[in-house]
Amino acid sequence: MMKAALCKEPGKPIVIEQIPTPTPTGRHLLVRVEVATLCNSDIAITQSGGFGQSNYPLVIGHEAVCIVEELGPDASPYDFKPGDRIGSSLWRDMCLTCYEFTHIGPQFCPSAKMMGMNAPGYFCEYTLVDAACAVKVPEKENIQAAQLSPLFCAGITVWDGLSRAELKDGETVAIVGVGGLGEMGVKYAHAMGCKVLGLDINEAQLKGVLESGVVDGIVNTRTTAPSDVLGAIKELNGGRAVDAVVVTSGALKAYETAIGILRPEGRLVAIGAPLESVPVSMSMIATYALKIIGALVPGQIGCSKCVAFSHEKGIYPRINPREFQLEDINEMIALLKAGNVQDGRMAIRF
Ligand SMILES: [Zn+2]
Ligand SMILES: [Zn+2]
Repeated sequence: MMKAALCKEPGKPIVIEQIPTPTPTGRHLLVRVEVATLCNSDIAITQSGGFGQSNYPLVIGHEAVCIVEELGPDASPYDFKPGDRIGSSLWRDMCLTCYEFTHIGPQFCPSAKMMGMNAPGYFCEYTLVDAACAVKVPEKENIQAAQLSPLFCAGITVWDGLSRAELKDGETVAIVGVGGLGEMGVKYAHAMGCKVLGLDINEAQLKGVLESGVVDGIVNTRTTAPSDVLGAIKELNGGRAVDAVVVTSGALKAYETAIGILRPEGRLVAIGAPLESVPVSMSMIATYALKIIGALVPGQIGCSKCVAFSHEKGIYPRINPREFQLEDINEMIALLKAGNVQDGRMAIRF
């Protein structure tokens, strides 16, 4: 048996219970969770039924660093052994044979399940990870496991978005929403050699990224009138609109802002997913020959590249200095929901 945080019904408090320790079958790795971090998607999953695909009761959580304990019978070709320290993309149980998996990406396999949404996640002592999505994260001097955990959702999501924007050296990219995901986004974009502009409605977050030296300019879209945003951007960018914009915010207004600051043939990458549909001006897309690009958490290859890039450039998310326990999960959810977490991602140590 093991201790697990269970969401029995969306909107109800999470309960800590003893449940059976899972047994690895197929490609699964039985892993002991070392540290797990709380993501904004966990709020949707625990409070409102998430994305309509969750099975309850559910062990939530999809970002973690773990130690491999035991291999399922089909996991041996994947080069993991007991004692390995790993993280994993949040997908599991892909069929490995469909067109989507073989030609596009594991995240698009119709059989894929998402950990912490429709398969058990990481807010428990032991869980099952798909060896086809796992990535080794050996210990690194001065880097804590907690700093690596958010790379496996927040980090790879925004890294994938920036990769899909096909940024060229010297181009200007605007990041709309610079907290959480966006904070990783500005750091990655800066490290990719881009000029980076940060847009947000939160002045403290804007000042934070400006002071850390990873953005070349900021625009507060709460205090700047919508009709003045493009002018403010041009002033910061040598009189030009931006080459690409990455939207990490899930607000409709963020998308309205984004589309208005692109140059002709500019690229808009959609990461933040509003629950409502976004009204988009097709005439603007046609007239300016704009490209709209989606992004979704990739699998093992994307994760490995993102982790390697993060290590190479020394880019890690900020971690809340408070050391949370599994029993604090309801308090953590309340803090995140209220937006009271300016100190970085909250991590549970096991
Ligand atoms: Zn997430
Ligand atoms: Zn498939």
